[in-house]
Amino acid sequence: MQKGLISIDRWSEKSQAYFLTHLHADHTEGLSPHWSGGPIFCSPISARLFPCKFPGFDLSLLRVLEVGRTHPLSLSSPTNGSEVQILVTPIDAHHCPGAVMYLFRGEFGCVLYTGDFRWELKSERAKLAKKTLLDALQGDKVNNLYLDNTYCHPSFSFPPREVAAQQVVDIITQHPNHEIVVGIDTLGKEGLLLHISQALSTKIWVWPERLQTMHLLGFDNIFTTKTSLTRVRAVPRYSLTFETLEALNTIHPTIGIMPSGLPWGLKSPKVDDTFGTSLENCCECKGSATSRIQLETNQIQPPRKLHRYAYSVPYSEHSCFTEIEEFVKIIKPSVVTGIVSSSFYYINPRHYFGYLCGFGHLFHKPCRNFRCEKAKNAEVNQCQSFPRCRSSNKLKERKEGSIKFASFSVRSSRLSAIRKGKCGVKIMEID
Ligand SMILES: [Zn+2]
Repeated sequence: MQKGLISIDRWSEKSQAYFLTHLHADHTEGLSPHWSGGPIFCSPISARLFPCKFPGFDLSLLRVLEVGRTHPLSLSSPTNGSEVQILVTPIDAHHCPGAVMYLFRGEFGCVLYTGDFRWELKSERAKLAKKTLLDALQGDKVNNLYLDNTYCHPSFSFPPREVAAQQVVDIITQHPNHEIVVGIDTLGKEGLLLHISQALSTKIWVWPERLQTMHLLGFDNIFTTKTSLTRVRAVPRYSLTFETLEALNTIHPTIGIMPSGLPWGLKSPKVDDTFGTSLENCCECKGSATSRIQLETNQIQPPRKLHRYAYSVPYSEHSCFTEIEEFVKIIKPSVVTGIVSSSFYYINPRHYFGYLCGFGHLFHKPCRNFRCEKAKNAEVNQCQSFPRCRSSNKLKERKEGSIKFASFSVRSSRLSAIRKGKCGVKIMEID
């Protein structure tokens, strides 16, 4: 594909067509209500949420693509002006509402960009997504797979969201006289809240802007902004801190629940000493040699009590390692590149999945056993010896400390455990 044709979740550089996978902030950095860069292709649900996320946005710039259908797109060559025909198929990413991955096909071959995705293959939605993907490919090979590598390490093993949601319900049931606060983002985890509401026959409090989003998503009678109607409140996760919980407990017994893949499995022996941090950040490595933390083995474990008033539950909107692996096995791309370029850590998916890709004979299947002596001294960032992408260059530039991933050493961001911007690609510029 020629340079300057298409950008995905990247808004700072000139392209003929822009594609949005979903409306999370790290995928919309550079997008604003004053956007005039060109048409934006997105799913119907993302289009519906646009005015809420970007009040005043010129909605005539949106090109809404039906999910699961292949759409022809005609662009013109930036070099000679000739017509460039592209087929694009948005596929349900089963992440937050409206999230899709995009399959592009044309004379350039096949490019699949996952955006953020969860690949729970036993779910009907993932089965349908797999069928849509294979039907759209028509037997062709994916040349370039741009992959959500958020949890691309064998240490990350989550149960299906349905199981994690029931764990949350069980915690709530075990605290019948407590107020419950659940940390969420401005979009996502709706499935968890619906599960709680249905299992406990209760409404759920959300803040006013979140209620507007819920109404746009069609959830009219489940959520409320009246605290008197329910003891379960969904609050912005940045506001869910140990200090808040301590303060709330001086008024009324309160339990905080953080549903997230990130804190799950992180083992910090002094986790109760982390007052003053948000629950999301409590397992964050601060970059010093003494703040190393370890990931546990990949066994599914019960919810973890982080603090006397706080629980971590592995409810993740991203795929865990085995799900990513299953996905790559289905796709078997020629080249795989991670799309998360600024996060808690960066692991080049080629380290684990290079053996499934083209030129697989050049890659060995890495050992998954954390205790394995052979793996003991392996550095995940040995993947730097593989062809570089922009992300790995960034990784190389970092000077921060390292986090202990069992026997592996991975560089981490000093700034935050929360994913930051710089997702997305102008797809000709990588590889
Ligand atoms: Zn996301």
